[in-house]
Amino acid sequence: MRTPLIAGNWKMNTNVDEAIRLVESMLDGLEAMPGVERVLCPPFVSLTYAADLLDKTSIGLGAQNMYPAEKGAFTGEVSPHMLKGLCQYVLLGHSERRQYFGETDEFVNRKVHAALAYNLTPIICLGETLEQNEAGQTDEVVTRQTRGVLADLSGAQVIQCVIAYEPIWAIGTGRPATGVGANRVIGLIRETVAGLVGQTPAGALRILYGGSVTADNVAEFIGQPEIDGALVGGASLKAEQFVGIVRTTATIKGV
Ligand code: PEP
Repeated sequence: MRTPLIAGNWKMNTNVDEAIRLVESMLDGLEAMPGVERVLCPPFVSLTYAADLLDKTSIGLGAQNMYPAEKGAFTGEVSPHMLKGLCQYVLLGHSERRQYFGETDEFVNRKVHAALAYNLTPIICLGETLEQNEAGQTDEVVTRQTRGVLADLSGAQVIQCVIAYEPIWAIGTGRPATGVGANRVIGLIRETVAGLVGQTPAGALRILYGGSVTADNVAEFIGQPEIDGALVGGASLKAEQFVGIVRTTATIKGV
């Protein structure tokens, strides 16, 4: 069975004080549900503080981005060498990185290789735009993205990754996909992965849904057989919501 995973992407929200308060406000609620892998991804400047608070808990910590080199003249960037020991996960290829900072599948693939080399778990985001969705191009787009971001990985490496299918039209819009629709696309992503590295690793890979998930609608996604959890943006900034999402996941998945 694939362990369900719920990750909170705080994006560019919270200063250090606010981040500390937010972690503290959800800590006990999250600790009560160890059957779900729970990951918080605060901004870089709060990572060390969050790491201190999460030390000796079962809650994971992730960064929101990473540059694919160990060190060097890349002003303002953060390397896997810096993240190693501080957190265990890293979000890669989020649609906001692709849209505002020009990240391509090829660049995201370099990041995935770099993260794995440092034993960081990449949570790799992909998904189609509204225009692509309306033009009936969803399958073609996610298949291409899946092949691109996982290029040159072995089956053993693929199962160290997590994929988050996040249709861009559903992110931050309050207009989530349907559970059935997301399940279908995630099934297609899994089939594509099977074509790359074989059925066994594809069957073990966790694939999440992301896009306007809340405590009120998460059951629709978690109840689907292909969906292993959620990447949560806005609702991860509210302790009650995020803990509620994890609680529903634990109940539905029976963990
Ligand atoms: C995200 O940022 O990855 C996301 C899914 O955001 P939201 O939950 O706010 O749609």
